[in-house]
Amino acid sequence: MATNRTFTMLKPDAVENGHIGAILEKINAAGFRIVAMKMTQLSKLDAEAFYAIHSERPFFGELVEYMTSGPIVSAILEKDNAVEDFRTLIGATNPAEAAEGTIRKMYAESIAANAVHGSDSDDNAAIEGAFHFSGRDNY
Ligand code: UDP
Ligand code: MG
Repeated sequence: MATNRTFTMLKPDAVENGHIGAILEKINAAGFRIVAMKMTQLSKLDAEAFYAIHSERPFFGELVEYMTSGPIVSAILEKDNAVEDFRTLIGATNPAEAAEGTIRKMYAESIAANAVHGSDSDDNAAIEGAFHFSGRDNY
């Protein structure tokens, strides 16, 4: 059953390049409600655990290094059909292939430094949200 929630991170390139406000504006304009949000910085262990599914991929080392390189903003978002609609809003993993008007097309630097994360399923949205937020975070 759909939870109508998804999880996102504004990645280190988006934060470093000053795009937090613009990206949150697009997220709100697209009808998502921010349920929980914080700025944090991932440790190497955090990033390895979060992206464990990619541990055998050739880009894993670079991905962990990049995701720990600076602060991120993590958030839980709510909207009907949240997971699918948020993936549409952010666009393809590679910004060169992302549709016009998507967050990655507008703000990503590269396939690695691609501005935002979006969960790929309801199950992963719940797992990823619980990884970043505790019951004390009011979500
Ligand atoms: N990534 C990368 N090189 C690649 C594919 C992915 O550096 O060839 C990074 C990129 O930051 C991406 C993340 O690994 O967002 C997770 O990859 P995934 O295939 O899950 O893409 P996403 O779900 O984020 O679109
Ligand atoms: Mg993914």
